Amino acid sequence: MSLASLSAPVLSRIVSLSVAIANHAGKIIRDVLKKGELGIVQKENARDLQTEADRAAQRCIISSLSQCFPKITIIGEEGDEESKQISGKVYDPTPESTIQVTCPPHLASLGEEEIVVWVDPLDGTAEYTQAYECRKSGHQGVCLLDHVTVLIGIASGGKAVGGVIHQPYYNYQNPGSELGRTIWGVVGGTVGGMPIVAPPEGKLIVTTTRSHSSSTVTDAVDAVCPDEVLRVGGAGHKVMLLLEGKAHLYVFASPGCKKWDTCAPEAILQAAGGILTDIKGSPIPYQASVPFRNSTGVLASAPGQNHAFYSAKIPQHVKDNLKA
Ligand code: AMP
Ligand code: MG
Ligand code: MG
Repeated sequence: MSLASLSAPVLSRIVSLSVAIANHAGKIIRDVLKKGELGIVQKENARDLQTEADRAAQRCIISSLSQCFPKITIIGEEGDEESKQISGKVYDPTPESTIQVTCPPHLASLGEEEIVVWVDPLDGTAEYTQAYECRKSGHQGVCLLDHVTVLIGIASGGKAVGGVIHQPYYNYQNPGSELGRTIWGVVGGTVGGMPIVAPPEGKLIVTTTRSHSSSTVTDAVDAVCPDEVLRVGGAGHKVMLLLEGKAHLYVFASPGCKKWDTCAPEAILQAAGGILTDIKGSPIPYQASVPFRNSTGVLASAPGQNHAFYSAKIPQHVKDNLKA
């Protein structure tokens, strides 16, 4: 990083570096798919998979961040084994390729040791592996590569304070357009990388999971009386729909999401004026010591929506089903 940037607040420098690293992780993800050697491993169940892209992207993100910021705590979805492999593949961006990120005064004096970084190296693995199958079978089947994101969430004092979402396949269906985009934000500061658009007035569009549904997930969605439901992949992708005016609410009454799924999206959404909480409307904690699982679900609303109103509409039996 440039000498000038060394005088910038730690949070600004971490977000700035995370943007560059997330872009690089996106290249790794595209290269693994191009090569076609996915090395799929089943984690908790058959709907919870890990690929070589998840592993390689996490190795790159964690080794690159920890080289520059050795005192931050980094927690990655793919576990310690992948995290601790400082494999020599550190990505060190040139000063010209890093952006300037402004930091609000109340976060400007944060020290490295006060920061916890939650990394989801590839959010939307279900859609990534389905796209691989689709390509292998000559495009018979589901190809939703734009649902895949890289998530780097920065927390301090148990709160999400900054985040980066990189979408490696943005524009993949528009040949000739630039492939991929990256959005970043600092709470109390600004959002960069995409224009924030308000969702249409006079209707309610809800986004939810397409591959991890259940009766409580459906009951919660039905309870807010949506005019339209977008069942799409990825926590990062769904929050992007809120930011770009394509949905008003993200409703997920399930314990399936983890802290690395929500930290970066929450920070960026909050920076844009939206809200992300659990399904009951309570804040999600992000200290390094908390359980990884968001056991009380996720509810997120686009800027300008009445979050508390929708949280109150979630049926009591759904809330009772999601115990901390
Ligand atoms: P989805 O909206 O289904 O794409 O899920 C968003 C994120 O939460 C992804 O990282 C999923 O892997 C994770 N997730 C949600 N539900 C589950 C589940 N039942 N088991 C494992 N991971 C889940
Ligand atoms: Mg994820
Ligand atoms: Mg993941």
